[in-house]
Amino acid sequence: METKWICRCLGSCGKMEIRRKPKRGLCPRCGEHCAPAILASDTQAAELAGTTWRVVAPTDVVPEIERLGLIATIPGDDFSADLSKISRLRNDVRNSKHLVAHRHIMGRSGFANGDLKTRSALNRAMSRGEGTSPFFPKPSLSDSPSVMGKFVEAEFGFRASRRVLKTLSLVSEQLVYEHPVLDIPINVEIDGSSENLPVELKTVTALDIISGKLRAIIMQLAGQAIAKGVDSGVLIVAEREGNRLTAVVISGLAEYHINKVERWVSESTQSGVLA
Ligand SMILES: [Zn+2]
Repeated sequence: METKWICRCLGSCGKMEIRRKPKRGLCPRCGEHCAPAILASDTQAAELAGTTWRVVAPTDVVPEIERLGLIATIPGDDFSADLSKISRLRNDVRNSKHLVAHRHIMGRSGFANGDLKTRSALNRAMSRGEGTSPFFPKPSLSDSPSVMGKFVEAEFGFRASRRVLKTLSLVSEQLVYEHPVLDIPINVEIDGSSENLPVELKTVTALDIISGKLRAIIMQLAGQAIAKGVDSGVLIVAEREGNRLTAVVISGLAEYHINKVERWVSESTQSGVLA
């Protein structure tokens, strides 16, 4: 059997199967970085295809968002109808080529939206040197939470591309914007959109334990909103171990993001962390 090298181009080529490992980790088509990737096993693929998520109201998430001083609203009827459509299982179990998880990428040139998720991520990005290895050195385990999360996201993306949806799109988009506080270009990847708002799809073990991750998720969604020139975004959260699925519209993102980054920069400058 011919072995193929599965990777994901960080340029516009996306997921690829090539004959051999890309030279110096660069895409043979466009020359951008390629991240090594893994495919879901047959068991994982069958399980994902066969899962019907149960759409629930964002009861666990709304109070957490409001506690951070943001506005949380329930998405409209069209969006909810789309969410129900992608929550339903599919019978074409053999279609599993979309279930690809690529390795975490580090040391990419420039700043990424993920570098602004937390204070420590920003500090790391600020002190990062040139010429660092572009990939996280350890291979991800095929059943690690981050890999399972990527598979779940890919599954929803696949369903969204195959079903007729009114307002939700899960086609990813790459944008670059000039950061209002840091004055540097930030690379942003967006999972999807609804109207002109960014849509971020996240997975958690269970919905009621989202609060620990929420601040970082909101910083990420806020970066996406700023990149699109809007102040709101839609967060979709799916359970990995349970089967609940929910969505919430979050507003007031730009101010939240800018205040946070301003505070991190001024506090770090005082303590000498950021130059
Ligand atoms: Zn490429």
